[in-house]
Amino acid sequence: MLITYPKLSGILVFTVYLLSSFSCASPDQIDTESDVTNPDLLNVVTTVSPITSIVENIGGTYINLVGIVPEGVNSHTYEPPPSVAKIISNANLIILNGLFLEEPFLIMAEENAKPTTKIIQLGNETISSEEWVFDFSFPESDGHPNPHLWTDPILALKYADIVRKELVKLDPENAEYFNSNFSIFQQRIEDLDYRISNSISTIPPKNRKLLTYHDSFPFFASRYGMQIIGAVQPSNFSEPSAREVARLIDQVIETGVPAIFGSEVFPSPVMKQIAKESNVEFIDQLRDDDLPGSSGDPQHSYLGLMESNITIIVPALGGRIDSMVGFDTSLVFEGKSRTKYPE
Ligand SMILES: [Zn+2]
Repeated sequence: MLITYPKLSGILVFTVYLLSSFSCASPDQIDTESDVTNPDLLNVVTTVSPITSIVENIGGTYINLVGIVPEGVNSHTYEPPPSVAKIISNANLIILNGLFLEEPFLIMAEENAKPTTKIIQLGNETISSEEWVFDFSFPESDGHPNPHLWTDPILALKYADIVRKELVKLDPENAEYFNSNFSIFQQRIEDLDYRISNSISTIPPKNRKLLTYHDSFPFFASRYGMQIIGAVQPSNFSEPSAREVARLIDQVIETGVPAIFGSEVFPSPVMKQIAKESNVEFIDQLRDDDLPGSSGDPQHSYLGLMESNITIIVPALGGRIDSMVGFDTSLVFEGKSRTKYPE
């Protein structure tokens, strides 16, 4: 049981949290070298891997963190198995991207979470509905905006700050640890943002255009002055019609871009056809929710995902990536992470 007495505007407010599986642990009680679940720590559940990585960086070794959506699956249509209900029922905090990305998981979370457990949708708290983006694969007629906010590192930093605040609220004794991890993560994001801007500035202006298969880069593009000339994947995740393919081929030829980009998660023969008929390079390795490498590798992180995309996009469009050399994609904290990424 954790009892806190936060002072709000001079009024003493009594809040009693009855959290059966969590009692406050002080830093010296925590075995940072252990990878077993520690019953004295907060149980946090997340969905897609970039979100898991952001939460992992802030919570460090002071949270038990479980990611749910396996890498390499279509996160937009993912249905969690019934076994996930038990993980949800043990959670002290549940963190989603939101903006309709993980609807089946959200329903399961609302049905199975403890009444005291907060469910946070980071995207919904980061931008207002006036800032929602509707586009190729996320048309306004469907009502579901493009959810990939994290491809803009500055929005990812806002995600991290929301996570920091929630962890501090739930575990105020360890506030200094969470704040310190956030501060290092903020420096890494600012460094990343500077390096990406530098790299993109080396792309000839006429080539600063993206045609991707999966429609995950509008927030990235608007941050770095790139233009999205199209996304190929229709909103129902099928393949585009022959007429749409012909239109895209015309568009690629007209814009004169040297390369178009596919996705690790969605291999598409249609993209190959568009590239061949418009005589441009096709690179099918962009990532939006599939982290590079394997769990435990330094590049298996949100920062590694962004680095990987830049090192693919920039040279293919005629730019240089010298600015990315030496960028640190590893976790910001010391000790062995307790985060479980699903296989
Ligand atoms: Zn996606």
